[in-house]
Amino acid sequence: MKPKIGIDLDQVVCDIQQQMIDIYNQLYPGENLTKKNWTTYYLRDLTSKEREDKVLEILAEKRIYRNMEFIPHAKKSLQKLAQSFDLCFVTHREWLYEKAKQDTVYSLTKDEIPYVRIFFTEKKARVAKSEHLKFFIEDNLKNALEISQVCPCYLFDYPYNREEIEKNSLLIIRGFENQDWWNLFMQILEK
Ligand SMILES: [Mg+2]
Repeated sequence: MKPKIGIDLDQVVCDIQQQMIDIYNQLYPGENLTKKNWTTYYLRDLTSKEREDKVLEILAEKRIYRNMEFIPHAKKSLQKLAQSFDLCFVTHREWLYEKAKQDTVYSLTKDEIPYVRIFFTEKKARVAKSEHLKFFIEDNLKNALEISQVCPCYLFDYPYNREEIEKNSLLIIRGFENQDWWNLFMQILEK
């Protein structure tokens, strides 16, 4: 049996942020929102609750999880990681719309993403504990801090994490946009 690892979906495997940016810029021309200037985790903290709600409403209408866009190199990296680990996806995206769970499973299957289990929950540290995960990959600082009490948690370095990263001694993954992040993990794990 292979060791199990936990992986978040949004902004680790799937690029929901770019889709939110595209919708936002269409709704509010001239604002020029980009990944670089999106420096808070929640869009509402950068803009307003009303604007975030509007963007989320459109995402839900589009049933966004049925056709997922991938983070660069995610698909290949997951396929390679799956050779050494059993992949468990742990996501809290189910709240966005009624069929989010089934659309997620449909999309992962359609895109031939290898995994053994998927958990829909915000209690990610609990899953890390109950499933005895060897390590976890996240983009949400709050989750990462909780999970890292249970197992090593790698946090993707996004502009919205940067300020907090400086204050917290977490395991940070940089450069994942530019290369197979499988390679980054292998380098770390072999040390
Ligand atoms: Mg995420």
